[in-house]
Amino acid sequence: MPTTTNLGFPRIGAHRELKRAVEGYWNGERSKQDLLAEGAELRERHWRKQDDLGLDFVPANDFSYYDQVLDTCAMVGAVPDRFPWDGDTVDLDTYFAMARGLQEKDLEGEGSGVQAMEMTKWFDTNYHYLVPEFASDTEFSLSSTKVIDEYEEAAALGIDTRPVLIGPVSFLLLGKSQEEDFDALDLLDDLLPVYGELLQELDDAGAEAVQIDEPTLVADRSDEERAAYTAAYETLADAADLDLHIATYFGSLAENLPTALGLPVESLHLDLVRGEGQLDEALDHGVPDDLSLSLGLVDGRNVWRADLDSLLETVETAIDALGSDRVIVGPSCSLLHVPVDLGAEPALDDEEKLWLAFATQKIEEIVALADRAAGNTEDTETIFERSRRAIEARADSEWINDPAVQRRVDGIDDGMVRRDSDRDTRRALQRDALDLPELPTTTIGSFPQTDEVRETRAAYKEGEISRAEYEAFIEGRIDDAIEQQEEIGLDVLVHGESERGDMVEYFGRQLDGFLFTENAWVQSYGSRCVRPPIIAGDVSRPEPMTVRWLSYANEQTDELVKGMLTGPVTILQWSFVRDDQPRAETCRQIALAIRDEVLDLEAAGIQAIQIDEPAFREGLPLRERQWEGYLDWAVECFRLASCGVADETGIHTHMCYAEFEDIIGAIVDMDADVITIEASRSKMELLDSFDDFEYPSDIGPGVYDIHSPRVPSVEEIETLIHKALDVLDREQLWVNPDCGLKTRRWVEVEPSLENMVQAAENVRESS
Ligand code: GLN
Ligand code: ZN
Repeated sequence: MPTTTNLGFPRIGAHRELKRAVEGYWNGERSKQDLLAEGAELRERHWRKQDDLGLDFVPANDFSYYDQVLDTCAMVGAVPDRFPWDGDTVDLDTYFAMARGLQEKDLEGEGSGVQAMEMTKWFDTNYHYLVPEFASDTEFSLSSTKVIDEYEEAAALGIDTRPVLIGPVSFLLLGKSQEEDFDALDLLDDLLPVYGELLQELDDAGAEAVQIDEPTLVADRSDEERAAYTAAYETLADAADLDLHIATYFGSLAENLPTALGLPVESLHLDLVRGEGQLDEALDHGVPDDLSLSLGLVDGRNVWRADLDSLLETVETAIDALGSDRVIVGPSCSLLHVPVDLGAEPALDDEEKLWLAFATQKIEEIVALADRAAGNTEDTETIFERSRRAIEARADSEWINDPAVQRRVDGIDDGMVRRDSDRDTRRALQRDALDLPELPTTTIGSFPQTDEVRETRAAYKEGEISRAEYEAFIEGRIDDAIEQQEEIGLDVLVHGESERGDMVEYFGRQLDGFLFTENAWVQSYGSRCVRPPIIAGDVSRPEPMTVRWLSYANEQTDELVKGMLTGPVTILQWSFVRDDQPRAETCRQIALAIRDEVLDLEAAGIQAIQIDEPAFREGLPLRERQWEGYLDWAVECFRLASCGVADETGIHTHMCYAEFEDIIGAIVDMDADVITIEASRSKMELLDSFDDFEYPSDIGPGVYDIHSPRVPSVEEIETLIHKALDVLDREQLWVNPDCGLKTRRWVEVEPSLENMVQAAENVRESS
């Protein structure tokens, strides 16, 4: 009979217990004992649940108080020098200091604070990890007992777990090098003995197997890098008497497949959701006799009930080729990326629940698949039947399938993704129609979301205040925002976004085709969790979404007011997306809904409309050869949303990051009239890529960092504007902050924007 595995269980708890415990500890409301007890309770609950459901390999060390990569840094003693640490074991406070930095007050007068480690996205997920820091003199030593402790903790509960480690090669490749021309893989020989020592300790503690994650094997790799995996596992295979199970996920191994199949280990895990054809590729290539394959069949990145009949066929193919004792059934990747339990969603109706599976339900699916493959038809019939019903229900549901939306997508033609005139013509018309000065000043959309704003929105949601009261309150916020901006002297005003909590949820709630959950949280980073909407059906816009607020704002001022929308790619990227049609298709539907809103705003007299796409870049596939396919439809969707307007209407977009070099062609193709981007932290250096490409539209490179409470001086901003002018034409340049101001306070925002406006005036006069 095939065995079953899980690569990792969500650690935050079905009700975000870990978030509360960790934050309580940080702000002094909870003791360390409290926090550790909560951690132990969550681990026990999750181990027992998986064990009770009949899973063979229950993972351990998938738990973390912050992040699994940070845990690995602690494990091998990769603590950057700036953190106070005695070089012995990394205690919890050092660990949190690495994650969050140290303030002056934490250091008792010894220094002025220490910067946290950098955070970045875990492959193409919305989970963020802490980036290890390496230099040629980095030294490693076994500096944490977490792995052993958690193994023993589970063993004491009578559960034999399989500890999960991040593999040494991936760990090094995921880090950043502190020196030029230094290759972190040079550290591999120093790192392996620490892994070896740990494996020996696990062996001594009674463990029989470990799961070692090497997700970097699914990305583009050089020959040297491929050789590093081979060398690493030749060493680790001899380090202890433990079975090594190598896990790859988030894509296909492709040209790295022979390397992976050649590793001297017990099993290799393949992601058969993202890399559908991989099983056949592996079987064609030839699987060594002593290697088992672990089949990543149940989607660990999405929330849909699996098609068990079709997955069973894959299991059977593998069994025919390898024999059932060399086949392991599991999720495509760790279940960290999905919510804990559908049982915690009382508001979803039975039909909706039928479509969905969260982590707990996915474990049931995995166990049923293996059971069924072993011939147990009777006990598995209920869940198989449910899977069939889910597929039928989704295909038949009138809520999901809207022929009108499908007809509209089929009817998309070239004219819909093209503006009437070219950029230069539009620029002239817009400058005229909108009466803009040189170096126009504006902001990115949101103004401070004060406690009052958040509390009033919550009160409205809870039904504590009436709709009329709520709307009057929002109008008041708009009045204030407009008045402030007029006083400051900005050229293009915004309404301030007080009516929005989350920029995707706000639109999703008003669109058809979206489901919202109550407790379906997934970890984003540290204690931060998000609750992504679920795009389950065909998307359309029953009514205007923002026109009411924008029209109101427009009536309060003679200045130009800019409308503010979230773009289709970002809405897609930050949601769970239906798996019964291509993502591009779903994105086109969203784009059409946004297009409707754009045209309604224009008809209501809004002459500048910003469509935010902060998630545009993060949709890039892991493999460079797949970028073009993605960029083609992502650009098309932006144009579909934006190109319906007249030449005189200015289309703005905003992206809050600074890496454009490799996607600048796509950015040009989006054909926005103005793009605002983050630039102040890189001191305008990123503009070089726009210069090399002779970017044809207008750009507002952020002239001050909104992430910090500091008020920038007029001189400082002037210097940055001049730097931008070294690269860009005067007619092209806009002056604005890096991003929205919702996390700031008015006391910071007001003087900062005043200085920004003054700086723009000074530069205008100096010409
Ligand atoms: N318009 C949004 C705001 O100002 C943009 C947010 C973002 O780029 N993430 O808040
Ligand atoms: Zn931004």
